[in-house]
Amino acid sequence: MLTCMRFRLYPTAAQEVLLLEQCAHARYVWNLGLEQRLMWAGWKGPTPGFNAQAGQLAEARAVEPWLAAGSQTVQQQALRDLDQAWRQFFAGTHRRPTWRKAGQHEGLRIVGPQSVRVRQDNRARSSVLVPKIGWVSFKRSRALVDWKSYRITLDRAARWHIAFAVIPDPIPAPETGEVAGVDRGVTVAVALSTGEMTSPAGLSLKESERLLRLHRRLARARRGSKRRKEVKTLIGRLKAKDADRRKDWVEKTSTDLARRFDVIRVENLNVKAMTRSPRGTVEKPGRNVAQKTGLNRGILKSGWGLLVTRLEQKAPGRVEKVKAAYTSQTCNACKHIASESRQSQATFVCVSCGHRANADVNAARNIAAGHAVTARGDLRVLARSVKREPQHARLPKVA
Ligand SMILES: [Zn+2]
Repeated sequence: MLTCMRFRLYPTAAQEVLLLEQCAHARYVWNLGLEQRLMWAGWKGPTPGFNAQAGQLAEARAVEPWLAAGSQTVQQQALRDLDQAWRQFFAGTHRRPTWRKAGQHEGLRIVGPQSVRVRQDNRARSSVLVPKIGWVSFKRSRALVDWKSYRITLDRAARWHIAFAVIPDPIPAPETGEVAGVDRGVTVAVALSTGEMTSPAGLSLKESERLLRLHRRLARARRGSKRRKEVKTLIGRLKAKDADRRKDWVEKTSTDLARRFDVIRVENLNVKAMTRSPRGTVEKPGRNVAQKTGLNRGILKSGWGLLVTRLEQKAPGRVEKVKAAYTSQTCNACKHIASESRQSQATFVCVSCGHRANADVNAARNIAAGHAVTARGDLRVLARSVKREPQHARLPKVA
């Protein structure tokens, strides 16, 4: 049920040079396209989309031999990826596309018919025909079926990978009629209405300490020195391990939920609004800013967006988005809404009936019940709760 099959890629020294060149082209085109969109003034008309930018790329290739020497497929795909990132940003599901940096974002993507040119070399090895580079070998640790595209990346630990995107087969519903509410928590990544709580493993305490030590060593290392490069690689390796574990958690959690529940309800929250700057929307700046920063980190690190995407792929038609307002302030036992019930990040104690629960689990139960809770004319409470919970994208409609 994997959606991404990732293998180690082993380019020859000559191929590595060519790959790095192609990655640089993709990055250059992406950054140029992004700059044009960001700098665009309204009076010039609509912001250039993919078609307009692809036209400009063709013109640039005609006058810049170094760009023309690279693969048009790779360069066009970078523009297509940018276009998608741009749309996702405006749809409110993703953050603003960022600049691609050398050494940090080394990658290229091949989509469609060009991506299926793969041959099996022997029991453990296959090769992929990369445009303008040739057959590049990769370690095929499991069978590869039904992919639509691939991405080649160089991580900060100096390892090349190829990741094939596979559309997963939907997981059949258990047909038990069971509904799960899923809340993204602050102290844990995900809380379920069943009372279960789960988080990706991340780095162990020992590994985190090691990362800290490496960062200190990096600060002391001379710029451009061999030692600095080595420390950077070690840091990259730890960070890659952390990212791998998080991805793994998303796959396992989404498969588990799709298998066990007929309907999975999630909050219809706006990730973009939630991760925006915490300044200016809170009562007690110092404390709340710290909390919000923690929340930001939690959301981004736990990969909530990715989890929902995978859920929708594995349980198509069985994922429901529920109105987010008040789920964390509503008592699941008596339905009383009061921000005072939320005593801390961790505990919910209802001021009306005394019901006590883990705050994230209480919220998950409200999500499972799918309450479309509306404020009943109490604008004072409304105004206050909006200030308290700046993560809500917009004011709930007053009935
Ligand atoms: Zn209550």
